[in-house]
Amino acid sequence: MFQTLLIANRGEIALRIIRTCREMGIRTVAVFSDADRRSPHVLAADDAVHIGPSPSAESYLRVDRLLEAAKATGAQAIHPGYGFLAERAHFAKAVIDAGLTWIGPAPETVAAMGDKTEARRRMQAAEVPIVPGVVDAVVDADEAARVAQEIGFPILLKASAGGGGKGMRVVETVEEIPKAFESAGREAVAAFGDGSLYVEKYLDAPRHIEIQILGDSHGKILYLGERECSIQRRHQKLVEECPSPVVTPELRTEMGEAAVRAAKAVDYLGAGTVEFLFHQEAYYFLEMNTRLQVEHPVTELVTGLDLVELQIRVAGGEPLGLEQEEISLQGHAIECRITSENPYRGFLPSTGVIDYMRLPAGPGVRWDGGIMEGFEVGLHYDPLLAKLIVHATSREAAIHRMSRALEELVIGGIDTCTPFHRRVMEEPDFLRGAINIRYVEDHPDLMDDGLCAEEIEAAALAAALLEEEDRRRHRAPRLAGTEGGREISPWRRSGWPWPERE
Ligand code: ADP
Repeated sequence: MFQTLLIANRGEIALRIIRTCREMGIRTVAVFSDADRRSPHVLAADDAVHIGPSPSAESYLRVDRLLEAAKATGAQAIHPGYGFLAERAHFAKAVIDAGLTWIGPAPETVAAMGDKTEARRRMQAAEVPIVPGVVDAVVDADEAARVAQEIGFPILLKASAGGGGKGMRVVETVEEIPKAFESAGREAVAAFGDGSLYVEKYLDAPRHIEIQILGDSHGKILYLGERECSIQRRHQKLVEECPSPVVTPELRTEMGEAAVRAAKAVDYLGAGTVEFLFHQEAYYFLEMNTRLQVEHPVTELVTGLDLVELQIRVAGGEPLGLEQEEISLQGHAIECRITSENPYRGFLPSTGVIDYMRLPAGPGVRWDGGIMEGFEVGLHYDPLLAKLIVHATSREAAIHRMSRALEELVIGGIDTCTPFHRRVMEEPDFLRGAINIRYVEDHPDLMDDGLCAEEIEAAALAAALLEEEDRRRHRAPRLAGTEGGREISPWRRSGWPWPERE
């Protein structure tokens, strides 16, 4: 096992990895940009290296700087986290070529799964059901139209090199194809330098259900149950849970075995996720993420396993030391992503200094955060600040626990999406488990800024508590007014996205 590991990432995931390393006795190296000089992940690591200015293209995406930092600090392994360079085959290869251990699957696996048509071909060969459509790029709009008529409208035109929802167009009629083909192709060239497109059937309001897998270098691949991730906005997940309210033990085994076939088809090593769309009792391969997912904690809480520890151990050549029969799901876990976005203003990103924080605690509550008081939230990086995760004996108990934990959570100084989550935890369709990927657009009330009397009262109470907290810390309570042109009313500091009246 290596003694020193560099984390090529920032924020909550860097801290998450540092925690496990500390427990394993591995020394950690953080990297940071100008904007992250005083970040919790930098303070938590044993060593930290400055890798450049704030824009990620000049820091967190600089392979040369990351490798130099590893060399300078004696790191023997690199964990990429998620996002940034985690799914870039060229980075995985550069790490290995530098003689370091890459915490992840082989660069060939990353590359194969990064190409959607290649992934579909491999899955078809491995008898994993794929969304109906073609497995090769179509040459032109005429061919796309022919395929569309065969599989039936609506269809989805997708970029082979796609990611982040780019180069994707839903097409309802044959007349729309030429225009959609042209614009999706143009977008794909701009985003990926590759305009090739393929066609798949557009499913009507499916669920997003994914399977966590783990592979070692001794040929063993296990599945660790599913995650229900249907609550998304613009294809970005907001709430995840394990298990899914619709997955029976039989279906879990079937989807788990399909995910293992998918992983075996690409000689998978480490932690990965096979994403499926679930529609009318059938499941279809969507894509495989060759890295740790943001939502991995829900799986950790119900399986009792530390996925980061297992990732590190298998990368170091150790066997998994677990059998499929030993993996069982206990209770129910839910994760809410806490982002610096205001749900009452179309999830508008919010910036500012976090001047107060009260974190939830108590039984079954986990906080995976990357923020602290005094931390400045800017616009350089993803708005994900933290994840609040709860675990309880049943789905109902987990929902109650999440509501309670969300009530305890106060982040002052910026707006967050916390009020959205509080409403979801009380929304009847969510309570019944009746959710699909259109859930957020089908429930505009969740983003309604018309505060009811009860909520105004709650905001007033939160503001009063903040004042009390200030008093106890022997500092003058900062009441309404402005500071540097910014409103600093206690209402705002309570983290309440108070609608601004301009
Ligand atoms: P990307 O890699 O660009 O994120 P994905 O293939 O993972 O693209 O799809 C992103 C999201 O788009 C999915 O989570 C789902 O919400 C939606 N989606 C993708 N394919 C389909 C489909 N065939 N039918 C319906 N929705 C789809």
